[in-house]
Amino acid sequence: MRTILVINCGSSTVKFAVFRGSAERCRGLVDRIGIPGSSLSISLPGDRAIALKLPVRTHREGISHLMRLIIAQDVVRSVEEIDAVGHRVVHGGSFTQSTLLDGASIAAIRRSIRLAPLHNPHNLAGILACGKLRRPQVAVFDTAFHAAMPEEAWRYALPERFRDIRRFGFHGISHQYVAREAARILRRPLSQLKLITCHLGNGSSLTAVRNGRSVDNTMGYTPLEGLVMGTRCGSLDPAIPLLIAQRERLSPAEVEKLLNRESGLKALAGTRDMRDILSRAKRGERKARLALNIYCRAVAKHIGAYMALLNGADAIVFTAGIGQNAPEVRRRVLSGFRHQGLRLCPRANPANRAVITRSSSRIAALVIPTDEEREIARETARVLR
Ligand code: ADP
Repeated sequence: MRTILVINCGSSTVKFAVFRGSAERCRGLVDRIGIPGSSLSISLPGDRAIALKLPVRTHREGISHLMRLIIAQDVVRSVEEIDAVGHRVVHGGSFTQSTLLDGASIAAIRRSIRLAPLHNPHNLAGILACGKLRRPQVAVFDTAFHAAMPEEAWRYALPERFRDIRRFGFHGISHQYVAREAARILRRPLSQLKLITCHLGNGSSLTAVRNGRSVDNTMGYTPLEGLVMGTRCGSLDPAIPLLIAQRERLSPAEVEKLLNRESGLKALAGTRDMRDILSRAKRGERKARLALNIYCRAVAKHIGAYMALLNGADAIVFTAGIGQNAPEVRRRVLSGFRHQGLRLCPRANPANRAVITRSSSRIAALVIPTDEEREIARETARVLR
């Protein structure tokens, strides 16, 4: 049985977990790195939890602190007990599967920073910081699950010289995890299922999964394409960014920031938080209702498209913050699939149960909490074999 440390670095956070085989030994978060009020929290077996306030200036410092804590708490007795460190890397560029890291692959991840400037630098910082642990390291990519998409899925209708500008697709670690879990819940082999997995969080994307493989994802060359998201606009008429740049005399970087950070639910409702939007919409606030309608409409439209692509689906799977916790969003999204025989259960859906459709439903709808850390650990152990 392998002991795997999972490291998932965001811009100001390090999520971490330790697994021994499939057993979770701990899970934690270093929060507000480089921001006043930073902290380290960990949950341990037996419902034990520890939260510490301490200054953390860099990811490297955060990783040193968490290593000391997991050894002090006897999660592992020493660094040597860790068989490998598995890292989440958002953009894999040309990597098509999880990879054991060496100098050349780390250099390739460094080169892919230009593809995901908001994410990959932090992922790389985690890899470099863990180098001093002298344990094997594995990169698990959010793009890898989508790497086998057919060319008609990844190719944009642009001149040949832009062939490298292609759909990569994202959230692959989460989509892969919930697809496998869906097969377990449905008690059918993943290799025989047609699934539409909906990762609805701050970032949102759908994947069409046929026989366990991604055949399409709504995100594109970057995570900006597809659904309306917390602060991202999702798909637009491609002429619009050019018009905005001209009208406000913005540089490409400024337009990119506007579309990534100042758009989406935040632009429509004044908040990116779906909980706030739902409660304000319930009180009848116009902006919140419109934002909710626009969000749900985009999800429903794309599910419809994937139904056609897969020629029907066995199940629609909801995951991530909104997908797992917002019955009202699921109800609205699924209301357009009654004609295909989808029958939502009015008791199971509000309770966020695993199966939220009636037994007579021709298409199942499932709610499956995502667990990217567990999936990274699984992939890391697989690479070590
Ligand atoms: P991230 O992509 O940052 O990991 P999450 O998957 O945590 O995001 O999703 C965050 C979103 O989930 C936010 O819009 C948040 O409001 C929403 N969310 C979390 N809990 C609930 C809930 N109980 N009801 C509705 N929305 C929720």
